[in-house]
Amino acid sequence: MPALLKAEGLVKHYDVETGGFLRRSRVPLRAVDGVDLEIQPGETLGLVGESGCGKSTLGRVLIRLVPATAGYVEFDGADVLRLDPRALREVRRGMQIVFQDPFGALNPRMSVEETVMEPLLIHGARRSAETHAEVGRMLEMVGLPDSARHRFPHEFSGGQRQRVGIARALILRPKLVVLDEPVSALDVSVQAQIVNLLSDLQGELGLTYLFIAHDLGVVKHISTRVAVMYLGKVVEIGEKRALYAAPKHPYTQALLASVPVTHPSRRKRGGQARLAGDIPTALAPPSGCRFHTRCPHVMDVCRTEEPAMRAAGPDHQAACHLLPA
Ligand code: ADP
Repeated sequence: MPALLKAEGLVKHYDVETGGFLRRSRVPLRAVDGVDLEIQPGETLGLVGESGCGKSTLGRVLIRLVPATAGYVEFDGADVLRLDPRALREVRRGMQIVFQDPFGALNPRMSVEETVMEPLLIHGARRSAETHAEVGRMLEMVGLPDSARHRFPHEFSGGQRQRVGIARALILRPKLVVLDEPVSALDVSVQAQIVNLLSDLQGELGLTYLFIAHDLGVVKHISTRVAVMYLGKVVEIGEKRALYAAPKHPYTQALLASVPVTHPSRRKRGGQARLAGDIPTALAPPSGCRFHTRCPHVMDVCRTEEPAMRAAGPDHQAACHLLPA
């Protein structure tokens, strides 16, 4: 089956100003720096990495919420980055986003009904008995009572607000939903409820997800495959079970080692390196392998040569010099 979404050589550099008053200059911040990936229809691709490594930018560039600097994105057969505005509007219906902070993302002066209905109106529907009913269907799907439609975001808990955000994203019946840290701002007790809801909705509506999280633990159950990002690059991507059981990139290994282990029988795993130090700045990424400044296995070649993606198993690849070429 052809991929629903395909990215090739995708780049997003933000033009930022650095330096003081006299030495001010503009330099590119390499938020996304050459990403290839594919998302298959019906799957969930988990996208993980530390804060600041470019996940959110990648998610937004893929659906053209943020313009790309270079590269190619294909969604459902359309050349997303080169569509004219009219064609883009049509394609946009098919790709929606759920944001991390449900409160920040929702207009506090709009009722739930207005919030959930708005995408329909933007895409040309007239307010009618049908749009009213559609809002009711969406609220029911996300587990909110119909009476919620007349209330305002501040009257809800974080989890309920995220349900509103999900209803708004789904009302156009998209094929692909970018979930940008959809549970990171929620209490741990509520996170599982929202992940379960997303999982149920995926089954009911045949959705495809790009699920962004900074923690490998959050995406473990819902993902089909997982991509690990470091400083603007995907450094490992693979089928979920293989990636968790036998991570190949030292960065993935370190991320996994820092996932809190809740099950007592698995608490003493050890042997894996914890992540030391901070992520380097995307204004001047390290030479060679970008992870070499923090890698416990660093070799000379890592400082000078950027590793290409190498096969690490069936449906599993990593960009590391430790893997056989
Ligand atoms: P993540 O989602 O992994 O936390 P982001 O995509 O938010 O990462 O950010 C990647 C890098 O791009 C960071 O260095 C961040 O500071 C920078 N960045 C994000 N948005 C902007 C922007 N609008 N202008 C300039 N730099 C930005």
